Amino acid sequence: MSQQDSSMDVVIVGGGLAGLTTAVGLIGTGLSVAVFEQDDILGGRARSWIDKTTGDSVTVGPHIFLSEYPNMLQLLRILKTENCIVWQRGKFIDIAKGEKIYKINMAPLPPPFNFLPSIIREREFFPIRDILSNRRAAWFCMGLSEQDVLRLDRVDALSVLKKLGVTDNFINRFWRFVCMSIMNVPLEKCSAGALFRFFKLMVSHMQYDVGFADRGLGELFAPQAQALIEKSGGKVFTRRAVEKISRNSSGLEVKLADGSAIHAKYVVAALPPTALKHIVPENWKAAKSPFKDLEFFEPSPYISTYLWFDKKLTRRQFWAREFDEKDLNCDFYDYSNIYSHRTSPHSLITTNCIYCQRASSMTDKQVVQTTLAELAQFLPEAKRAKLVHSLVVRIPMAIHCPHPGTERRRPPVVTPVENLFVAGDWCRTQVPASMESACCAGWQTAEAIREKEGKPKKMARKGKPGQGIARAVERVTPAMRGLPLFPDPRIFIP
Ligand SMILES: Cc1cc2nc3c(=O)[nH]c(=O)nc-3n(C[C@H](O)[C@H](O)[C@H](O)COP(=O)(O)OP(=O)(O)OC[C@H]3O[C@@H](n4cnc5c(N)ncnc54)[C@H](O)[C@@H]3O)c2cc1C
Repeated sequence: MSQQDSSMDVVIVGGGLAGLTTAVGLIGTGLSVAVFEQDDILGGRARSWIDKTTGDSVTVGPHIFLSEYPNMLQLLRILKTENCIVWQRGKFIDIAKGEKIYKINMAPLPPPFNFLPSIIREREFFPIRDILSNRRAAWFCMGLSEQDVLRLDRVDALSVLKKLGVTDNFINRFWRFVCMSIMNVPLEKCSAGALFRFFKLMVSHMQYDVGFADRGLGELFAPQAQALIEKSGGKVFTRRAVEKISRNSSGLEVKLADGSAIHAKYVVAALPPTALKHIVPENWKAAKSPFKDLEFFEPSPYISTYLWFDKKLTRRQFWAREFDEKDLNCDFYDYSNIYSHRTSPHSLITTNCIYCQRASSMTDKQVVQTTLAELAQFLPEAKRAKLVHSLVVRIPMAIHCPHPGTERRRPPVVTPVENLFVAGDWCRTQVPASMESACCAGWQTAEAIREKEGKPKKMARKGKPGQGIARAVERVTPAMRGLPLFPDPRIFIP
């Protein structure tokens, strides 16, 4: 950026999903907008690049979409890439135990009964007694309001599941897996509010599908968003790190690492808390929310492993390994069955090791060998196939750990510093930290700036309301609170 550009209407710090969504949401306002990204690729934790050895697109790590991602899907619709998602219709998750697969699907029944047929079919994996032990928890979740979620944020998810009568067997087989794969922390370290909000989504909707990008994930939004922003007169800079955000008598100032400074009417810090804490003044961190809470957001690190083979190992797109906290990997994907434009038919298996502190001392070679061994337990053919190439990506933070206390600290996008906004997956969006939450926060920020400019437009979307019995339970619960079937969430707080 040249000296004449040292004043902008809106400076957006961070070119991940939240920052790009905010910039897209401001198109048409007439405001001059600049996005500053420190990396050489846009997309942040959802960025992709081309692997030089194989020519395949590689994403930071494999990601899933849910059909209940209204804010992310809205962004892709605007960018005209919504049809680049491969949906697994009607299929939720396949769990691998050795070579055997247990399928958890949704039947066309009113929620919460839609999971029942497949869970009953797989009763070898989930004995009926264990399934039925969830009835109180499911009922309780269906009635939760957002206020209840915040109350339950004071306590861990494991203790509430136990108090609601869920058996240890079901907790170990199902809830530990769901908590690790969606919330990215062990059950005993997860906020009950955060997990139960997701449980409510699971038991309240007739159908939601899991999908994957049919190419590198970043290719679905980063170049398209940049082109759209630039076409409307905005600017997008990569390799331009921001060093400081401050406010003085003349307004907000953004100082770049190259020494230049930009005055801006509005600044959007579209950063995770781990990055934001380095660029805000110490006196804000001492006194003001959300800045004084930044240290509270602990990162959940990942290791994502990519394995290229010389043959096709499976026709399956996605499966998870039966949960065992001693294992390395949780979820497995074969991109040879997902990517639409790949030339090689041979398997490209990728995996996620979530909350991977246990593997931090492993070398890349050890990670690859352990991943191969885990893969071969489900696909013995992997032992006979030749490993052509591998890549281990170590990610310091996939999302923040939703420990008890974090839900209440997730900030609204509007901060106490006038005209400064925070946007990111960790904002108070009422969904778990995810691509959906990042986009939702981006739309909310664009809405807030538009409102100030007198050009209001509704952009952030709410998830669909619950259906069937779940909807009825949600409606009657506030009037029934305290009656035997409708326990007050406060009874779970010690
Ligand atoms: C391996 C992995 C798997 C995941 N799986 C899923 C999944 O299956 N489904 C799902 O919904 N979500 C998943 N997520 C989470 C999802 O990727 C994130 O929630 C989302 O991408 C966060 O977007 P964001 O814009 O809030 O933050 P970010 O993507 O972190 O964007 C912030 C940007 O700011 C930049 N930046 C930082 N500091 C500065 C600075 N000082 N100056 C300028 N720029 C700066 C960063 O480089 C980054 O580009 C996964 C994440 C990972 C890593």
